[in-house]
Amino acid sequence: MSRTADRYQQLTATPPGRFLQSKLGLPESTPLRRYEPGQPLLEGPALVGAAPKGRLGRTLDAIVKRAKVDAHKQAPEGDGRFAALVFDATGITSSEGLRELYEFFHPTIRRVASCGRIVVLGTPPEHAGSIGEQVAQRALEGFTRSAGKELSKGATANLVYVESGAEDRLESTLRFLLSAKSAYVDGQVARIGAAGTSGTPADWERPLAGSVAAVTGAARGIGAAIARTLARDGAHVVCIDIQAAGESLADVANEIGGSALALDVTAAEAPEAFSSYLADRHGGAQVIVHNAGITRDKTLGRMKPELWDAVLGVNLSSQERITARLLDDGVLGDNGRIVTVSSIGGIAGNRGQTNYGASKAGVIGLVDAYAPVLAERGATINAVAPGFIETQMTAAMPIMVREAGRRMNSLSQGGLPIDVAETIAWFANPGSGGVNGNVVRVCGQSLIGA
Ligand code: NAD
Repeated sequence: MSRTADRYQQLTATPPGRFLQSKLGLPESTPLRRYEPGQPLLEGPALVGAAPKGRLGRTLDAIVKRAKVDAHKQAPEGDGRFAALVFDATGITSSEGLRELYEFFHPTIRRVASCGRIVVLGTPPEHAGSIGEQVAQRALEGFTRSAGKELSKGATANLVYVESGAEDRLESTLRFLLSAKSAYVDGQVARIGAAGTSGTPADWERPLAGSVAAVTGAARGIGAAIARTLARDGAHVVCIDIQAAGESLADVANEIGGSALALDVTAAEAPEAFSSYLADRHGGAQVIVHNAGITRDKTLGRMKPELWDAVLGVNLSSQERITARLLDDGVLGDNGRIVTVSSIGGIAGNRGQTNYGASKAGVIGLVDAYAPVLAERGATINAVAPGFIETQMTAAMPIMVREAGRRMNSLSQGGLPIDVAETIAWFANPGSGGVNGNVVRVCGQSLIGA
């Protein structure tokens, strides 16, 4: 699927289509602004506010200056639009103090531009200094998610919990959430810890320059988009897929100046082959993306054992075995990144997908288990959980299921493979050392499993 509008969007962009849409009360679906190299972070001014005693003021000032954002501390007169509203809520230490959110957003939320951004910044509730602060900081989640549901025209709202001491690790996350790269990330909570490294890329347009990334399932769909995006960001990408996908795998690798490795990730020799390829040819890798995945749907009572085994084997066990081997062999570099692809089905569950749901929830378990281990090495592991993404897989769905999947989210449209890829590129960024153990949904704030 290209970056162009889907058919419903094309239809509702015409005057008769718009008339029908409003008469029938159909959802509004705005084509999302997506990233192009050289694009400014925001296409308009940002309003940056804070509750009294917030601890991120200086950090925010420095980031918006470096990122050349036209930032204002007071709303200018008139009814002009804001490309972003950013609010430092770290100073809120009581439920009464939550009124600060109301004061800032009540007069401004209706002035958020098309494809605009709301970013709320808080302290992880478990790191709060008092019960009152913990309660108030936890409240930010419900506020941000609800605000996200009130936005229209492709605008999004996300929350970032910044641990005390992790202020200097905020930039990569704030840049991602403000930019068009996070087009389909909505209603999410990102956490930045103080344990990770605080590297800053020399060039924000090519943060992975000089590094090596390996992507499984790279011959098509989301995996091909991940490979292209990591290459755009400067990485040499080792594209991995099964032998049968060899031709399209070679096409993707050639297109991005990467290399192709035909490998079935479930094969007994796969961990050794994966590890020695990266060690021998490249002296290791900085980014590993476990993307290869399959579905074999059947309700549990009718599911043959081979359907169970195939899905668990590709989607989960192979990731465990390969990850363990790469870490044992020291193939993942210092400040390395592992990213795994989960699914909304692993969070919400889905009828006919007990095998898939188990595998994709298991992948979240892999993130939970490895995050503290990798933190000790200055590395990270995170997961993306895509919602409805326009791929060959979703194109094959019956039309009613497909339409429901597309529209049942705050943005009233499906995401694109590039949206998943951009989120992975944010995790992979050398500046994202504090982003560890996160599971971020790329789902347009889907109603499913929310
Ligand atoms: P896809 O079927 O288009 O691509 C998957 C790729 O993985 C294929 O190129 C395939 O050959 C490869 N692959 C399969 N088995 C393999 C093996 N044993 N070894 C090596 N490679 C193998 O799927 P997609 O839609 O691009 O999905 C990519 C990932 O995103 C999967 O993990 C999927 O579960 C997940 N996901 C997709 C969606 C969606 O809406 N499309 C939603 C949630 C999660």
